[in-house]
Formats: sequence, C-alpha cells, structure tokens
Amino acid sequence: MNLLIMGPPGAGKGTQAERLVKELKITHISTGDMFRAAIANGTEMGLKAKEYMDKGELVPDEVVIGMVKDRLQEDDCKNGFLLDGFPRTVEQAKALDELLNELNIKLDGVINIEVPMEKLMERLTGRRVCKECGASYHVVFNPPKVEGKCNACGGELYQRSDDNEESVSTRLKSYMDKTQPLIDYYKEKGILKNINGDQEIDKVLQDILTAVK
Ligand SMILES: [Zn+2]
Repeated sequence: MNLLIMGPPGAGKGTQAERLVKELKITHISTGDMFRAAIANGTEMGLKAKEYMDKGELVPDEVVIGMVKDRLQEDDCKNGFLLDGFPRTVEQAKALDELLNELNIKLDGVINIEVPMEKLMERLTGRRVCKECGASYHVVFNPPKVEGKCNACGGELYQRSDDNEESVSTRLKSYMDKTQPLIDYYKEKGILKNINGDQEIDKVLQDILTAVK
C-alpha cells in the first residue's frame, strides 16, 4: 500500500506515521530523514541539495523530486511506503504524479490528520523545555511533578520563544494557507482521507487503518 500523510504542527503526525508503518509493514519515507541520508551517503542529488542548504536556500523542486525518485526505487519500497513531508505544494504534487506514473506506482490514499485550531494552539503553546537537560513537558498533557521544575534534573522549565501564542498562530495559519490547495487537489482525485486527530492516539490510528483499507 502506497500512502501519503499530512497534518499541521501539533496534530501528532509523527507518532501516527511511526505506528502506521509498523502496522502495515511499509517503509516510512520522511523527506527530512531522506535529505540527511542522501547527504551523508554523498549521492548526486544529496550533494546538490547540500549546496543549497549550505547557502541557506530552499532546495529546488527538481532536486527534491530527484531524491524522491531515487528513494522510491529502493528495495524496501516494493511492499509499500508512507510519504511524509512531501509534497508541500500543488506543483510538487503534480510532479509526484508524473514520477509515480513513470515508475508505474499507484498512490492509494492521502491521510490528512485534522485537529481544530484551538486544540493545536493548546497543544503547542503548552510545551515547556528544561533549561538544563532539554527534557520536554506539557502543562496539560505531560506536566512535571513540581510546577516549573524538571523531573529528571530539577532544572528550570521555560517556554521556547517560538512556542508563544503569536508565533504558533502565525505558524499554523501559514501551514493552513499553504496546504489547503494541496488538500483540495487530492480531494478532487478522490483519494483524500480526512482523519479526526482530536481523539486518543489509538483511536486515531484505528480510524486511519479503517480509512485506507
Ligand atoms: Zn532537566
């Protein structure tokens, strides 16, 4: 089964992706990991990507597509894959369609994890990090034993500057604006699976499995 997963920051996409690939015995292709691996292995596309990243520039679509193309032809993708972090735009989605066509691969479903904006705000702004050891907590979902103090080392907990309400709100709005056309694109193709991400982790996974089977 060949799938793609999307979801805003704070929707639990990483957790669900991890569990889904185990459940379906398919390969997780996270573009972030793929970049790091291609660069570490010194592949042609990896070196190209590194040039742009070293300059602090965005890696152009054709380089990303080239890396995805290489990756999809590896043996561990023969039984299926879960694409994560790509495509991000309709242009990239069209390029992916062409690529899949060329490789004679069918995309079976696009999982879109949905969580209401106010819930995402709560999840993201509640994060606290230990100044000493970097351990991560959440004021509601994973509070420390003593307020403001790290369980592990007793260090002071703080809120990262990009976790404040304004930054989080900007980040989420930017995600929604960029992603909506992509969601519409896959909806029109009839392969979009909207999943309610505002539930227990196990229930979200069950809903995904039901939707793709
Ligand atoms: Zn600590």
